[in-house]
Amino acid sequence: MSYLDNIKIVLVETSHTGNMGSVARAMKTMGLTNLCLVNPVIKPDSQSISLAAGASDIIKNAQILSSLEQAIADCHLVIGTSARPRSLQWPNLTPKECGDKIIQEAATAKVALVFGRERVGLTNDELQKCHYHVGIPANPDYSSLNLAMSVQVLCYEIRMSLLNLPTDLSNPVENDDAISFPKDEDIERFYQHLEQTLLKTGFINSNHPGQIMGRLRRLFTRARIEQQELNILRGILTSIDKKLG
Ligand code: SAH
Repeated sequence: MSYLDNIKIVLVETSHTGNMGSVARAMKTMGLTNLCLVNPVIKPDSQSISLAAGASDIIKNAQILSSLEQAIADCHLVIGTSARPRSLQWPNLTPKECGDKIIQEAATAKVALVFGRERVGLTNDELQKCHYHVGIPANPDYSSLNLAMSVQVLCYEIRMSLLNLPTDLSNPVENDDAISFPKDEDIERFYQHLEQTLLKTGFINSNHPGQIMGRLRRLFTRARIEQQELNILRGILTSIDKKLG
């Protein structure tokens, strides 16, 4: 297992098959191989293969999934990209910090770097599924890079961070002291449990659920909840369930 094997590049609803090919090439030049396409508008075609050049294997092996949730289910760290600052108050990283964080965590866990649609980027909802946001500090008057070029820049930072690791860390080792973060699918299960319990206590009214679950999801995503904390929260919910009978 190497660091780069634990990193997944996720493209959401890409329209241009040429971009998929250029993304594959950008990835392979930086040593990355795992590409995941969420609901591509058109499936990869000859245009993708042609722009991928020597990286057509990445296109052929790309995973095609129908939701972002599926793409990030096995990931412990999810970083979303955006060409422009959004109104969301969210933990932000510079491209270099993004590379460093990805390499740090890819030593022991799967991570995803998520890119948006050519025209409109990622929705706020999708960005709220990410622990951090990263923006390439481009020209403020014209900050939107071509999709594959933004993949290139951020994958370059990942590679720089890998090359800067001290040699004794170049082969990831299990570190028992490292903080462990849960997989996205385990956090999803927690949200379902939380919602069920809050429905039972009556805190959420099933006829008018409002924004409560959305707000709570945001809170826990921003907080970057750790595995042990998740276990405690699940335990609290179970104790409430028991009392409720
Ligand atoms: N109008 C869209 C631009 C989409 S560009 C928007 O404002 O979000 C397509 C994708 O390329 C973006 O979703 C993002 O993943 C990536 N991208 C483009 N420019 C970027 C930048 N300056 N920083 C980070 N990602 C960028």
